[in-house]
Amino acid sequence: MPITVKALQKTGPDQPFRVAQIERRDPRPDDVVIDIKAAGICHSDIHTIRNEWGEAHFPLTVGHEIAGVVEAVGSEVTGFSVGDRVGVGCLVDSCGECEECRADQEQNCLRGNVGTYDSEDVDGSITQGGYAEKVVVNQGFVLRIPDALDFDVAAPLLCAGITTYSPLATWNVSEGQKVAILGLGGLGHMGVQIAAAKGAEVTVLSRSLRKEQVAKELGASRVLSTTEEGFFEEHRGEFDLILNTISADIPVDAYMGLLKPRGVMTVVGLPPAAQPLHFGSVIRGGKVLSGSNIGGIAQTQEMLDFCAEHGLAARIEKVGLDEVDAAYDRVVAGDVHFRCVIDTTAFADAEVEA
Ligand code: NAP
Ligand code: ZN
Repeated sequence: MPITVKALQKTGPDQPFRVAQIERRDPRPDDVVIDIKAAGICHSDIHTIRNEWGEAHFPLTVGHEIAGVVEAVGSEVTGFSVGDRVGVGCLVDSCGECEECRADQEQNCLRGNVGTYDSEDVDGSITQGGYAEKVVVNQGFVLRIPDALDFDVAAPLLCAGITTYSPLATWNVSEGQKVAILGLGGLGHMGVQIAAAKGAEVTVLSRSLRKEQVAKELGASRVLSTTEEGFFEEHRGEFDLILNTISADIPVDAYMGLLKPRGVMTVVGLPPAAQPLHFGSVIRGGKVLSGSNIGGIAQTQEMLDFCAEHGLAARIEKVGLDEVDAAYDRVVAGDVHFRCVIDTTAFADAEVEA
């Protein structure tokens, strides 16, 4: 029997969130049923539900930063037991057989993985995300949340954490490297902490100096305002690596100019519009422009363990079920320090509005 749960749902991009009832699939033998304790708000949720990345499938529940407790397990589940502290990120299935899946790169599954929401599942249904009471997920896509991490501050690691950890690992960020984190939002504030924990000298590039003090608390050695006159000339050629987390249009060529010869810009921010790039800004200095998409499941576990070991976690603002629309506007305004997390335990007393 499918499981009926309460969830925050939108019926269209301009409609407010409402508490609705949605169905989770009848758990399969290798499924884990998770009682969700916290769900982070990623800017990707906003791009999706506002149809900025194309037409979303409505009615829709988003959310891919999920933390909770195992409530039930199928008969073939081996890795998890009732009561375990677990998380789910952006992926809930992949083919498991292609070259990429076999190399623990499920995010690049050649047959197309299944995203946690707004994605076609293997049974043809559209997946529904984590702004909900419970979720049913194949055990291969469930992560262990270390005891050192509370659910609220762990949830954002499932997307913001892995999305910044993975490229910093790919490019071997280490002791003494000059790393710039471009944009200090949900992703950026995890990028600062992880790069600093790896020993890099971290500079935050932000639109103003408003977040300077907290950026330094997170491990940055300095913050530069990108809107200051002469910024791009003054800081030409300074960085080994720029982790670009910006969700909106930016002058890519100008930012490439901030790199040293052979420097790398690794892009994770996905603004809706195409960003113009002149090849000259990559050719001169032999620079690298690379992209990175979340991370694989094994690396996501590695990231969670790394964060627990190094005392890293998200800085969050808790929001109630009726505050999510307002939180979206605040995220877009760059006004959140640094991730909003929905208190999903409030569903227990919430009335269904649909
Ligand atoms: P966020 O919390 O809104 O942070 C984005 C940051 O970008 C803001 O804090 C702001 O930094 C900067 N920014 C926003 N608007 C800007 C503008 N008009 N001009 C210049 N800078 C601007 O978002 P997030 O959740 O970290 O996500 C960031 C992006 O990454 C989104 O596009 C999201 O979809 C994408 N994403 C990609 C992946 C992936 O796998 N590649 C995974 C998750 C998310 P300052 O306030 O410091 O200037
Ligand atoms: Zn995300």
